[in-house]
Amino acid sequence: MNDNCPNCLERDVPPAVTRRRGQTTRDGYQCPRCRQQWITERIDTAYPADRDAA
Ligand SMILES: [Zn+2]
Repeated sequence: MNDNCPNCLERDVPPAVTRRRGQTTRDGYQCPRCRQQWITERIDTAYPADRDAA
């Protein structure tokens, strides 16, 4: 998932590294503009588990 640079506010920076650990996904970014590095962590709970309502 792309993110915005917290330093220069460059938009839609793609993750350089993505690591999954259980239900947690950690994306590491480096801004192409100012070289700022940061990490965003999120929890994957938004998946609809059951789709057999048909
Ligand atoms: Zn930046």
